[in-house]
Amino acid sequence: MSTVEPPPLAHVAQRASRRAPSPAALAAFLDALAAALPADRVTTRESARLAASRDGAYLSPLLSAVLPERLADVVVLPRSTEQLQTAVRLAHAHGVPVVPRGRGTGNYGQAVPLAGGLVVDLSEADRVLEVGTGWIHAQAGATFVALEAAARRTGQEIAMMPTTVGSTIGGFLGGGAGGLGSIEHGWLWEGFVRALEVVGCPPQDQPRRVYGAQCLPYLHAYGVTGIIATATVKLAPARDWTAVLASFPDGADATQAGLGLLRLDPAPRMVSLDEPALIATYPADPALPEGRHSLRAVVDVSLVDAVAALVTAHGGRIDKVDARAVGYVSTLSFNHVTLRAKRARPELCHLQVGGTPLITDPDAVRAALPGGMLHLDGMRPFPNLADPTYGRGFGGLLLAPFHDAATLYAGVQRLRELGVHVVDPHTWLLGGPALPGIRAAASANDPDGLLNPGKLPLDEPA
Ligand SMILES: Cc1cc2nc3c(=O)[nH]c(=O)nc-3n(C[C@H](O)[C@H](O)[C@H](O)COP(=O)(O)OP(=O)(O)OC[C@H]3O[C@@H](n4cnc5c(N)ncnc54)[C@H](O)[C@@H]3O)c2cc1C
Repeated sequence: MSTVEPPPLAHVAQRASRRAPSPAALAAFLDALAAALPADRVTTRESARLAASRDGAYLSPLLSAVLPERLADVVVLPRSTEQLQTAVRLAHAHGVPVVPRGRGTGNYGQAVPLAGGLVVDLSEADRVLEVGTGWIHAQAGATFVALEAAARRTGQEIAMMPTTVGSTIGGFLGGGAGGLGSIEHGWLWEGFVRALEVVGCPPQDQPRRVYGAQCLPYLHAYGVTGIIATATVKLAPARDWTAVLASFPDGADATQAGLGLLRLDPAPRMVSLDEPALIATYPADPALPEGRHSLRAVVDVSLVDAVAALVTAHGGRIDKVDARAVGYVSTLSFNHVTLRAKRARPELCHLQVGGTPLITDPDAVRAALPGGMLHLDGMRPFPNLADPTYGRGFGGLLLAPFHDAATLYAGVQRLRELGVHVVDPHTWLLGGPALPGIRAAASANDPDGLLNPGKLPLDEPA
């Protein structure tokens, strides 16, 4: 039987560092940037380079240990697609690597410049450009707070977004997957993205425009296939959301109540579940009572009575219903759980897990890692457009004290033997079924391999 090995990150980092620009190339590039862009759009200040060279990788003890201390050499903050094109054109001309960046909240070292060079920080290219029925068009640096506010002014809302609502649409498309709204609208790859304008390396005269399925190689590709300048993504009719916090003495009952919530119509925007050991890591809150299993949901206000009936029928009680708590309960879901749990217990590390064993055999899932604790998030893992409730289920996080890589990957192997789908958050290497399409688009749009080097797995021997 093959064993699950940690990815060869130190080796990949060392290989990527060979792409670092020479001092002469860098000096010529800086001169060219200074001549081409307004002075306030370019910085080599150390504090700015440091801030532009970090992301959420600190949540992983393995990544923290292996990420090189390399900083971006220069940061450009374009406000327009033209400024973005200019910076990338000059970088290409001088052989300087380019890493796009939104707010740097990605989890896996996705935005860390392993070869130094240029970081293009798109957070100031943040205008919402147009809102139509069912779609919103914005610059890559627009945050979800801004997108949601613009959509709400037209009676709509963003169909799906990460719990990091201050992050950017470009960063979410470049490095995220799903989150609030995924129970109904699925993942990034499931019709959320209508169109993109993408800058290759070297850029063409105009950004490449891609539509529908043509957008797929740019999603969760860490920018290696091109830099998203603008995006058009899906809106849904606005709902009147409220937060419900319930608790149960028994975990299996809480899970069954949660499964019931997932089948409500309209679908909840979020459903999350935690066992008492995880609740103990959250800030004290009377609506998260000690020693009980906590079920939280963001639901349409018209469903509060139906939710209460489901909770009671499964032996639980409602601890709070409050529309003002929607933002707060959203930060008790997805990877916010890791962030909160690690604040209380820094020794913890996490795996992203999915599949029916989370429901049918949660104790075996926990036991895969010593001291394991299970968090569940509602999602739609197996889309079936003919039946919109089919496949709604739970994925989640397995959190446990970190010992060493060998123990962690032995746990990954045990989980896979149980039939659990594991996504490894302790690697910055791209993977999964989209990888061949990403590789093909990367060679076409970035023939010299300057976009975010070190994020594509090596396809040749060391
Ligand atoms: C506490 C916490 C909770 C999180 N919750 C969620 C969640 O619910 N769902 C989820 O999917 N993710 C989640 N994440 C991961 C991350 O926050 C989101 O994916 C977020 O949307 C990333 O946006 P950003 O602007 O911070 O991107 P960054 O971190 O800056 O970039 C992410 C990746 O995209 C690339 N990139 C950035 N901009 C562009 C662009 N314009 N074109 C091409 N590539 C680009 C970067 O190079 C990098 O590889 C969470 C992370 C944390 C720390």
